[in-house]
Amino acid sequence: MDSYLIHVNGHGDHAPMLDVNLKNTGNIISPGKVKSRKPRWAVRASEMSKKTFNPVRAIVDSMKVEPNPKKAMISLSLGDPTVFGNLPTNDEVTRAVKEVLDSGQYNGYAPSVGYQSCREAVATYYNCPEAPLKAQDVILTSGCSQAIELALAVLANPGQNILVPRPGFSLYKTLALSMGIEVKLYNLLPEKAWEIDLEHLESLVDEKTACLIVNNPSNPCGSVFSKSHLQEILAVASRQCLPILADEIYGDMVFADCKYEPIATLSTNVPILSCGGLAKRWLVPGWRMGWILIHDRRDIFGKEVEIEMEHFPEFENDVEFTERLISEQSVFCLPATCFEYPNFFRVVITVPEEMILEACGRIQEFCEMHYQGADGAQDLECDK
Ligand SMILES: *Cc1c(COP(=O)(O)O)cnc(C)c1O
Repeated sequence: MDSYLIHVNGHGDHAPMLDVNLKNTGNIISPGKVKSRKPRWAVRASEMSKKTFNPVRAIVDSMKVEPNPKKAMISLSLGDPTVFGNLPTNDEVTRAVKEVLDSGQYNGYAPSVGYQSCREAVATYYNCPEAPLKAQDVILTSGCSQAIELALAVLANPGQNILVPRPGFSLYKTLALSMGIEVKLYNLLPEKAWEIDLEHLESLVDEKTACLIVNNPSNPCGSVFSKSHLQEILAVASRQCLPILADEIYGDMVFADCKYEPIATLSTNVPILSCGGLAKRWLVPGWRMGWILIHDRRDIFGKEVEIEMEHFPEFENDVEFTERLISEQSVFCLPATCFEYPNFFRVVITVPEEMILEACGRIQEFCEMHYQGADGAQDLECDK
């Protein structure tokens, strides 16, 4: 990034701000003594800002492509369930917030960790015998994003490294790199329903590893880990003495055929910071309400889907694939390069039903047009 050097004196119509006339200041400062160096603006971008990089923006903003004018654009890229009004939050939630506003009692500065009554409410909701929680174990934050940022800041120093899932949510890397923390990507295995490649995970651990990030249920994979897999992950963390940063913002919103287990309920010794929030579960991402649940019984601390994209030799990579999908079908999906997982793309399925059906139809048409199977046959199988 460029740094900025702004010359103030001698340009423009304004009186030069820093060229102060000292003649009338009497004998306090002699004009002769301040002549030596003319101050100049030299506001440079900080090291941190130069290290802050959002891959989604970088990839998406560089996609210069126009949708097919014959088809209305459908965007399956941004995971915001409020865009179409088809997924409103619960009335009770809206009422609760209205009551708080009407009371006029919560317009002041809250304690930096959140109001006690609110921390108690969150603790009561998540408390269970396997993972007991009290109000003091809850830190309220500005969205789950800030929860992750705080947890990272607490767990890792610059020069240390953290273990991050691939494919995975891009915020982990963006935050870590801006803080001077190195990122090591561990693989998720598509053939095992996106479970963690535990051998690969453990092979990445070194003396500088500060924590393991586990995102369950997963964005972008949509996977939900079984109890036994979570126990295997905890066994690695325990063996390597690694605290876990658990991003569990999609907890409590899994389909009926699987069960979500908070990882802290399965741990007896591994310290866990569980990050969550209202955004996804209650469909209110603009409300910026998140939390960290501190699970440290041993006092050790001080909807989305992915589709495979092989057999499309026409396209150099997933960015090109998604660009062509826009220009031909006006369907906008995120290239999974945004999630450190090239050759896939991610679709958001919170758009209204008729829209997702239309989009799926178009994606199918696009795939049938461009697919080249091993024997060149158009034998594409689609799960509808
Ligand atoms: C949306 C999301 C977040 C951030 O949640 P906010 O409360 O909107 O900051 C964190 N992690 C994952 C996996 C997400 O999908």
